[in-house]
Amino acid sequence: MFIELNNLKGLIVNLDSFKQETDIEWSNISDKVKLLFFSNDKTRLINISSIRNNVYTSDNDPYAYFINTTCFAEFLKIMSLHSYEVVFVSSDIDNIKNALNLPLGTILVSDTNVTDYTRICYLPDFEVSKIDEINDIINDNINGKMSGYFAELATTIFKWGEYLPFNHAYAVISEKELNGYKCSIVCGGRYFNTHDERYKVHQLSQRIINNKDTMSQNAVFLPVFEQLVKFVDSELSKVDGVTRVPPRPSEIKNDRFLNIIGQICDKNGYTDLAHGIYCNSDYPTQKNLNAEERLENVRGKFSARMRFDGMHVILIDDVISTGATAFECAKVLYENGAKKVTILVLGVNQLTNSWRSTYYKDLRCEYCGALMKMRFNSKRLERPAFFGCTNYRNGNCSNTVDYITGIRTINEQSEISTLTVADSNSDIDLLF
Ligand SMILES: [Zn+2]
Repeated sequence: MFIELNNLKGLIVNLDSFKQETDIEWSNISDKVKLLFFSNDKTRLINISSIRNNVYTSDNDPYAYFINTTCFAEFLKIMSLHSYEVVFVSSDIDNIKNALNLPLGTILVSDTNVTDYTRICYLPDFEVSKIDEINDIINDNINGKMSGYFAELATTIFKWGEYLPFNHAYAVISEKELNGYKCSIVCGGRYFNTHDERYKVHQLSQRIINNKDTMSQNAVFLPVFEQLVKFVDSELSKVDGVTRVPPRPSEIKNDRFLNIIGQICDKNGYTDLAHGIYCNSDYPTQKNLNAEERLENVRGKFSARMRFDGMHVILIDDVISTGATAFECAKVLYENGAKKVTILVLGVNQLTNSWRSTYYKDLRCEYCGALMKMRFNSKRLERPAFFGCTNYRNGNCSNTVDYITGIRTINEQSEISTLTVADSNSDIDLLF
């Protein structure tokens, strides 16, 4: 799902990131969207401008947008579109990473099946393997059938008792070696931490935080984990048993995935391995530690109660960041005979881009002006998420806005304005 997009009406394409022989493929892109190509190669731009209708080109310094929005504002002006109506497309990973600083939808075109773990914390809204596949995203968006990361779609409730209707759902598949052991890592979606501007509008991230102490979201997470385990079983490698990153001894009552594992194993015939591994002593929080400190912090903290000889074990957790805790658990499973360990999480922690805060404007209550925050009805999970006035608690204001209206308003408020260009020009006029 696109976080910054209200309606998809145009693609802004970094043409230089694609091989020239693929230029003809853009003629197949749905004519429901405008296309803007930017490139340093003027001849290439002239050739591509005739492949279909509604094509725009720019040889404006394409890399200027890395440090400011002037270039993008110029593109939007050429296309007569708002930033919440366009998506940035590139086949260059670093290029996408830079674009993530801006409130824009992003599509990475990349033909690798497995996501490189070093860039898993900079995921685009979509990753497709061929230019043609962008049409699926366009058609889904226009038909109101959402596509995107599976766990994000499956936890986004926006109508009474109704999940987002979705056509194309993806998981992020990656691999990593740590402590001398290799694991497959399957992530249901992205997790934006509480310092990230996107957290404010992202149901999966807020539900994960909501669940930490209360387990209030387990009814929403159970079918998500179940589908993901079955996905690993059928698409990656046959699954024998399921366990989780065990809680610290002091938090043993908050063993939040114990019940979920029991239900998934009962129903699908996997072995419940939750009691096979435990945390032998408390360790301080992993927050604010770097990757090496995290490894050191959890070293030797987990032990096995059994052998896992020849088994493919799934190790579930809610979020993965550096992977230190999950890999320390995987090490114990491997040392006790496991043949393969797959780490399975709802979300992979995305790195915060401080620049984004320049664009994001909070949702404010139209009656009292107070901040509006996303809320869930914890007793009736099938009820949709909504934005509620923070003056509610002191009884002064009970204003609410439905989820879709809320995120659309935030996107409209946070757009890259085409006025940026006019403003900077008028400044120059004044100076000289
Ligand atoms: Zn209010």
